[in-house]
Amino acid sequence: MAPGMEPPVRSPRHAGRTVPVLALLAALAGLVAAAPARRAVRYPLHAMGTYVNVTLVTADSAASAGAARAAHAAVRLVDSLMSNWTATSEVARLNRVADSVETVVEPRVAEVIARALALWRESEGAFDLTVEPLVRAWGFLGGPRRVPSDAEAAAAFALVGAGDVRFDPGARTLRFARRGMRVDLGGIAKGVAVDDAMRALTARGVRDALVDASGNMRAAGAPPGAEGWRIGLRDPHDREAFFARVTLAGDAISTSASYEQFVARDGRRFGHILDPRTGRPAKGLLAVTVVAADATTCDAWDTPLYVLGSEAGRRKARERTELAAILVVPGAGADTVWVEEALRGRFRLEPSAAARFVVRWF
Ligand code: ADP
Ligand code: MG
Repeated sequence: MAPGMEPPVRSPRHAGRTVPVLALLAALAGLVAAAPARRAVRYPLHAMGTYVNVTLVTADSAASAGAARAAHAAVRLVDSLMSNWTATSEVARLNRVADSVETVVEPRVAEVIARALALWRESEGAFDLTVEPLVRAWGFLGGPRRVPSDAEAAAAFALVGAGDVRFDPGARTLRFARRGMRVDLGGIAKGVAVDDAMRALTARGVRDALVDASGNMRAAGAPPGAEGWRIGLRDPHDREAFFARVTLAGDAISTSASYEQFVARDGRRFGHILDPRTGRPAKGLLAVTVVAADATTCDAWDTPLYVLGSEAGRRKARERTELAAILVVPGAGADTVWVEEALRGRFRLEPSAAARFVVRWF
């Protein structure tokens, strides 16, 4: 959702270089100059209810279209399996039957359910794939967005609890212990799609690429003339601006925030990330960004770190050595940006944001 990619910086790597003596070298330089330059080419797709951009570094955008199509197909497949918006997805089927009969789950979805259940334990209940009835009660699924009545919210909350999901990863069998329980993989599916897309690209020999599903991004290599893909982190107060940048090193990044999807009432904003421990929208943070080796880990953890809040979120981020986090905590004068030490040298506050954000390392 939140980060965006700045336009790739094209540096004239060969410009202004004088090759002295040999005519042969001069001729070779001429050949190099005549070859088409590699550039970042964007292949867009609409999927998973949002935009997905596959950006490839290539000198031949037509020849690279095949790899981009394979990445798009990988994203569409995850969408068709895990979407909560279409009645034909595997997740929709599970939600229709698994509260009354045991059912066998498609392999890729079974893997993600296993991951989500592990995440529920690792996050101490802050990530809960059974949050679906609550998300629906607030209208973030199905819509329209609204503040539910206390009775509606309580009824939905009574159906939340990953501990009541009976899942056998070997047999891939699933059964919800209570009638009306449903699962929502929206907190992790975009990361899965990005990883599957990147796998499709790598299998086709692509070296330099960026896959971006609405701010869930994974990088390979670098854009031309740069050391890595530089990712802008969106200013929580101004959707047109970036307040900081992170340079990726062949790894992944994603952000959870509630400044785009929320219900406003009586001057208060209720965001689309629910706290499964209280049944209420999570509050306290403006945004959480996670950097890790793969996009699934990033998307998996941005949601529970957001739920955990500033202190518990930082503690958990430090405990999980496979990821590094950035937490934006609102403040009276300036917001505090907590940046994990592992990101030193890769995180940079935008000069234009220096007055409004205080960076602290943890
Ligand atoms: P986004 O999808 O906006 O990029 P997230 O990765 O944080 O951001 O996912 C938010 C989605 O996850 C919500 O729209 C909802 O479907 C689901 N969700 C909300 N709260 C939780 C939670 N506590 N645990 C698991 N999933 C959640
Ligand atoms: Mg997430």
